Amino acid sequence: MSSQNTKNLERTAHVEDVQLYINGKFINAQSGAAFDNVNPFTNKVNNHVAEGRSEDVNKAVKAAKKAFEQGPWRKLKIDERMKYIHHIADLIDKEKEEIAILESIDTGLPISQTRKQAARAAENFRFYARVVQTKLHGESYPVDDEFINYTVYKPLGVVGLITPWNAPFMLETWKVAPALATGNTIVLKPAELSPLTANKLAEIIDKAGLPEGVFNVVHGFGETAGAALVAHPEVKAISFTGETTTGSTIIKNSADTLKKTSMELGGKSPLIVFEDADLERALDAAVWGIFSFNGERCTANSRVFLHKNIKDKFIKALKERVANIKIGDPMDPSTQLGPLIEKKHFKKVKNYIEIAKEEGCEVVQGVVPKKLKGGNFIPPTLLLNAKNDMRVCQEEIFGPVMAVIEFETDEEVVEAANNVRYGLAGYVWTSDLKRAHRVAQAVEAGMLWINAQNVRDLRIPFGGTKDSGIGREGGHYAIFEFYTEPKVIHVAIGDHHIPQFGKKN
Ligand code: NAD
Repeated sequence: MSSQNTKNLERTAHVEDVQLYINGKFINAQSGAAFDNVNPFTNKVNNHVAEGRSEDVNKAVKAAKKAFEQGPWRKLKIDERMKYIHHIADLIDKEKEEIAILESIDTGLPISQTRKQAARAAENFRFYARVVQTKLHGESYPVDDEFINYTVYKPLGVVGLITPWNAPFMLETWKVAPALATGNTIVLKPAELSPLTANKLAEIIDKAGLPEGVFNVVHGFGETAGAALVAHPEVKAISFTGETTTGSTIIKNSADTLKKTSMELGGKSPLIVFEDADLERALDAAVWGIFSFNGERCTANSRVFLHKNIKDKFIKALKERVANIKIGDPMDPSTQLGPLIEKKHFKKVKNYIEIAKEEGCEVVQGVVPKKLKGGNFIPPTLLLNAKNDMRVCQEEIFGPVMAVIEFETDEEVVEAANNVRYGLAGYVWTSDLKRAHRVAQAVEAGMLWINAQNVRDLRIPFGGTKDSGIGREGGHYAIFEFYTEPKVIHVAIGDHHIPQFGKKN
């Protein structure tokens, strides 16, 4: 794409300063504080972001509580509430190009990828409108001729949503859509490194005309704004996506107020290529799975296990791909790999590549063009001769870094795949049907793909086991298991026996 076109793209995005959105109004933080939002491609300041703290969280929770208890939102006829949800989806569709541009400016994710995410975000709303309307019903239990018991699913009240920077808009809508559709009210605390599209969502929800206080956004840092939301006694639940250590802190901090929590955490997912696999397709999937999203993908196949008989051939092809991946300006539609989110994360990933060398890996990398030196670019990286017990195979690097490990037997590879604290995703490549299912069932992860990359139908449960999470999002799981609570009503339909304590005979 020409530089003229790139400029055109940038010109269509308005990177204005970002405020909080509380009770239907865009406002500054009470303290007046704001922080810099830095562009990962240039390391220059994009804009300033109002820095919410506990007083702002209190204000937002108060507005959300009032909207839940006194407002019409949860009591709206279901058709009415779903009209709002569909309206949000339509507005996202209308503004999806600007959303994609803002997201790429903010995160460094290539525009070709943020475009897809923006479109998917609209689908999240439509999907949850459909699911709530058709599936959110209870059961009834006739008990002999004496009772009918029935269940209803009630919204929780004010829910706190805390999100990461790696796919901000998509992940925010993934939580906001089911929370709203089920009648809850929301305080969203977006990641401080990617605040732009959360405000775009607030603008859209504002335009859609939702009652004031139903949806609120408080920007700020995790240790202040995030922690205040977690500790707030009027917040009934926290849905969190982010690092495992943060998840653990949040669970501890939510204990005093006995909150329900949902945890979508880190990963170190294995991709296993057996000798009978379709190697071309496995190669496409392995390369895309770690190098798309700049490697900042929770379900990335950061450990690739290759059967010893196909290892050399596969590595040769991997090296060719790595040399040819298009590294560039995130705003250029032909870019495949952009800069990492921030300097600190860039240094962390770089440091892991040094650790890999010290641990004995051969490091093979693509080349970052010199003109890109202003950005946080790490080239696509292969760590060859890796062993599963190395730090680089055990710790989440969260960058474009693939560790390649050789194996010989099915038992050996399953054991190695499972020998890690995480259990988010896994990928199995083989033409042997029995082996495919056997291995997929044996790998300890919440989500397994056989002969496929991470393609996800919105109906399936999303989430991990072990240190990758607690609970599931997506599908009907989000609405039944998290954003609502079952309530049972026992109805006597006859004159059943009631003990008569204290009655004189
Ligand atoms: P992070 O844990 O650093 O931050 C996530 C959010 O938590 C941010 O909004 C942050 O401000 C907030 N936060 C930090 N400390 C807090 C505290 N003490 N109390 C309350 N909130 C706090 O994660 P990140 O670096 O933004 O995201 C990358 C991580 O997210 C990776 O580990 C990745 O694997 C994980 N992730 C998981 C999934 C999944 O579905 N399992 C999806 C995407 C990302």
